[in-house]
Amino acid sequence: MMKIHLVVAAVLAIALALATPAAAQTARPLPELIAEFVVSNRILADQGVIADGFGHLTFRSPTDPNRFYMSRARAAGMVVAEDVMEFDLDGRPIDERGRRMFSERFIHAEIYRARPEVNAVVHSHAPSVIPFGVTGTPLKPVSHMAGFLVRAVPVFEIREAGGNETDMLVRTSPLGAALAKTLGSAPAVLMRGHGFNTVGTSLKQAVSRAIYTDLNARVLTEALKMGNVTYLNESEASKIAETNDASINRSWEMWTFRALASTPKP
Ligand code: MN
Repeated sequence: MMKIHLVVAAVLAIALALATPAAAQTARPLPELIAEFVVSNRILADQGVIADGFGHLTFRSPTDPNRFYMSRARAAGMVVAEDVMEFDLDGRPIDERGRRMFSERFIHAEIYRARPEVNAVVHSHAPSVIPFGVTGTPLKPVSHMAGFLVRAVPVFEIREAGGNETDMLVRTSPLGAALAKTLGSAPAVLMRGHGFNTVGTSLKQAVSRAIYTDLNARVLTEALKMGNVTYLNESEASKIAETNDASINRSWEMWTFRALASTPKP
């Protein structure tokens, strides 16, 4: 009897571990995640996804699902481990120490609140995506590297949540919540006249999705000039997304090498 109980307990433990969305990241120590976060910042800068000082990324705490980490307000290409700050889901810093913070941290906070399986979020102003947020032309997957998009990327209209007189920035929890609602269960969301966000179960997934959302936008813009576009269908898109996720380390190695060669020593 005892033995059966032990087996049942073991099976339940495994099932629970598999069902817990943050399981993979929870197992990793914070210093290791911070090192990956610094490299992720450098990669986004080097790949041109956060070319200026105004995009940012975050990762969820491995020990407290109601906390996340973000750099102080600094250009992604310059971020070092000492810049990393901890926040709660209301966007409040745990240990501010007079450091300047990104005003749009509420984007990240509210996505973490709405999406328990998400462990990393990227926010970018890549110009390639802007046309798709302002014309009604949907951003759909045309490159097999952007299969994860599966369907058209939803567009967040800040006027619907904040009226006609915002400064376009998601600088409060209610605006963040409205953005998270538009994102829904998607991997990415466009922000009209502003940029886009990607999410992932890991830093690597959120970052690679940002890189390939940008690439897909550039490819699609060119294709639309040439004539009728054939998009990936949902089956093709979902299947290649799975294949690409399994090979993420191959590009990651190259992106890291390039990024660390082009930015100051971490
Ligand atoms: Mn922004």
